Amino acid sequence: MKVTEKILLGGHISTSGGISNAPARAAVFGFRTMQVFSKNQMQWNAKPLADQEVTAFKSEYARVGLRKTMSHASYLLNLGSPNEEMRVKVIDAMHLELSRANALGIDYVILHPGSQKDTTEKAAIAQMSEILNSTLSESRFTKVLIENAAGQGSAIGYQFRQLSEIIDGISQKDMIGVCIDTCHVFAAGYDVKTPEGYAETMDRFSSEVGMKYLLGFHLNDSKKEKGSRLDRHEQIGKGLLGIDGIKNFVNDKRFRDTPMVLETPKGEEGYSEDIKAIESVLR
Ligand SMILES: [Zn+2]
Ligand SMILES: [Zn+2]
Repeated sequence: MKVTEKILLGGHISTSGGISNAPARAAVFGFRTMQVFSKNQMQWNAKPLADQEVTAFKSEYARVGLRKTMSHASYLLNLGSPNEEMRVKVIDAMHLELSRANALGIDYVILHPGSQKDTTEKAAIAQMSEILNSTLSESRFTKVLIENAAGQGSAIGYQFRQLSEIIDGISQKDMIGVCIDTCHVFAAGYDVKTPEGYAETMDRFSSEVGMKYLLGFHLNDSKKEKGSRLDRHEQIGKGLLGIDGIKNFVNDKRFRDTPMVLETPKGEEGYSEDIKAIESVLR
């Protein structure tokens, strides 16, 4: 049985030439899920999606049999910023991300919650929940998955406790979840490389956050060591998390129907190699 039939594997896919081109690109690898940017990730604004582009995306999506897809929110957003101008900009940008994802039928918007910078962790987390409350109330279909951070600078969300505190402050708990990036969780200091460490880490996630919130994975190896708190992705099996670490995630039967999306440095150029590496350890 192929890797893509055993686990719900996908990759981050380019939208060049239009978002409706993405599903066919994902299908080249046999992917049953994918992640895209629904707009330029380095800009605040975007041209509205043309109706025919939305229709074409949806029909391509159905044709190639995708499910549980994700769009990654802009890297510019910091939901923890105490700056009032930034706060207003971020709320607008979150509305934009969610309205585009809803229109396209994308299940999850992946969000880096941001950093605490010039405020306290407590205040930043409270504001993150508050912004999510005001934007999720208008989402009909698409949920937000908070991505765990590697812990660079004053990034929030590298500890499970912080993810749980953001979720605690959210009223619509059925619209929120978590996406664990395997590179980030390792860089943040969690031992997910050994089977024992992996089991312990998942038990911690379960008790501190709750398994029902774990709705997606970013499957990446790490160029940097455990606890480095640096976010440097590597091709599967070529980094310091290594194939031993990746093995723990892909063989965990609890996640057979949870999307696992590659965000490795070579992108579509490297996915065939990544798939082969996963295949070598998938039971
Ligand atoms: Zn990621
Ligand atoms: Zn990353």
